Amino acid sequence: MSDEVYDLIAVGAGGAGLAAAVTVAEGGGKALILDRLGVTGGASVFAKGLFATQSHIQKQEGVETDPDEIFLQHMEYTHYLSNARLVRAIIDKSADTIKWIEDRGAVILGVPPLYPGAPQTWHTTKQEGKGITKALTATAKDLGIPIQLKTRARKLIIEDGKVAGVICDDKQGNTLTFRSKTVVIASGGFANNFDMMRKYTNCGEPTVQMAFGQVGKEGDGVKMAWEAGAAEEGVSVIQRGLAGVLKKKEVLKEAPKKSQFDKYITAILKQPTFWVNANGERFFNESEFSFAHIGNAMSKQPFQILFNMFDDDYRKLMEEEGIQVGLGVFAPTGTKVPDVKDALQASMDKDEAWICDTIEELAEKTGQNLEVLKTNIDEYNESCDKGRDALFAKNPDFMRPFRTPPFYAIKGHPTHVGSLGGIKINHKCEVIKKSSKTFLDVIPGLYAAGNVAGGMYSDSYDASHTLGLTLAFAYNSGRIAGEEALKYVGIDE
Ligand SMILES: Cc1cc2nc3c(=O)[nH]c(=O)nc-3n(C[C@H](O)[C@H](O)[C@H](O)COP(=O)(O)OP(=O)(O)OC[C@H]3O[C@@H](n4cnc5c(N)ncnc54)[C@H](O)[C@@H]3O)c2cc1C
Repeated sequence: MSDEVYDLIAVGAGGAGLAAAVTVAEGGGKALILDRLGVTGGASVFAKGLFATQSHIQKQEGVETDPDEIFLQHMEYTHYLSNARLVRAIIDKSADTIKWIEDRGAVILGVPPLYPGAPQTWHTTKQEGKGITKALTATAKDLGIPIQLKTRARKLIIEDGKVAGVICDDKQGNTLTFRSKTVVIASGGFANNFDMMRKYTNCGEPTVQMAFGQVGKEGDGVKMAWEAGAAEEGVSVIQRGLAGVLKKKEVLKEAPKKSQFDKYITAILKQPTFWVNANGERFFNESEFSFAHIGNAMSKQPFQILFNMFDDDYRKLMEEEGIQVGLGVFAPTGTKVPDVKDALQASMDKDEAWICDTIEELAEKTGQNLEVLKTNIDEYNESCDKGRDALFAKNPDFMRPFRTPPFYAIKGHPTHVGSLGGIKINHKCEVIKKSSKTFLDVIPGLYAAGNVAGGMYSDSYDASHTLGLTLAFAYNSGRIAGEEALKYVGIDE
């Protein structure tokens, strides 16, 4: 055990932990960063953009967004089950945080709409999320913050009811003790702990989910806080994603390998074509582009899967005119798919995509009920001819018949990018006691930030009004926790 007593220990070197530690060190405090992995950044390296309203980037691009409107939309979206003060604190700090990360070396590229009609709140960065975590890691090093990697936090030290440090394991299993006046838990949730995912969340069977970008998220931080008397909040929420494509037919025990990501087939799977479930039934308006809503709708279908189907006319459209809906920064709207058949080939080899001359063959290959499929195709084609989807009100701009052979189908699997809650916090990111009847009865010195903290959502992430909110929450809540920790230890200037 070292004799050093830090002002703050950040458990986790992702977006939230880095932001908290840098804030404390810049404010004159002594910070320590711990991470169980051998690198900094966590899942924050994979994120493509973060939310802000009224940022200088938006102003430069002439994009108007109204914080009050966004606040009210978010509260409405969450049925007022989110913590209004916390939501407001994050929204109000968001513009300053864009400047803050930029001042520390990250390069903000702009605020492109993620999908047709999307609000321009999503600030993309050079090198994606890694650009920010690299810049903050360099800042932390310049500030002299020790970064203790391969160190897994296991337990909080609580003395006289206050936080006094963290007990950890090193790679060899040795116990290490670090003492501090405050701790921010920023360990990023429990996406890789299948028992917790099964017990607490609404994700369904975790082994059939493709959990992108999450490594070593065993829920240690959430469990440590609960063990120390923290209240629970938002533990059921996961950040669902678009349907994902498998090139390997196997039960998913871990995230798909990077080599499995192919932008063309992933972009094709996203197109608003004719989508049916495992039984051959349409189940929602395919022109709904929020990835959270797509994931939610899929989660209610048999086996949580969908089949994206299109005909040869749509194949030509994608090759000759380009895709109707872009795939984030990878394939913007209008990108021409060089060869659809080629893009599908690896999945076809694994019986995850098919090209068929008849509907009968399509139903047989995909295992769907032929009569149900035929009825749904006829109904859909009739809607396309009339220009009105009387069933699900799909946007007519994206209604194209499914009529011209050959017919194409891709199987889409459920995906998510992490759990979004666990520890109850107030708008200062202080951790609230389980026994508390107010938002003021907190565990002194304990903060939580990023994906471990609840209170921002109700039962679903909102990818319609506040795009980029989870990454923004990590940085903004991390900064707030750092500022509050400085006040707590008495070095608030
Ligand atoms: C592929 C992908 C794309 C995404 N795209 C977007 C996007 O465009 N916009 C958006 O808003 N959000 C996006 N997200 C979500 C966003 O990345 C997360 O919400 C955010 O990164 C969470 O930050 P965090 O600091 O809470 O966790 P993380 O960045 O995951 O950091 C947590 C850290 O804690 C460490 N840790 C865990 N347990 C322990 C322990 N016991 N002891 C010590 N350290 C520990 C981990 O190793 C990790 O380094 C995406 C996520 C993924 C995976």
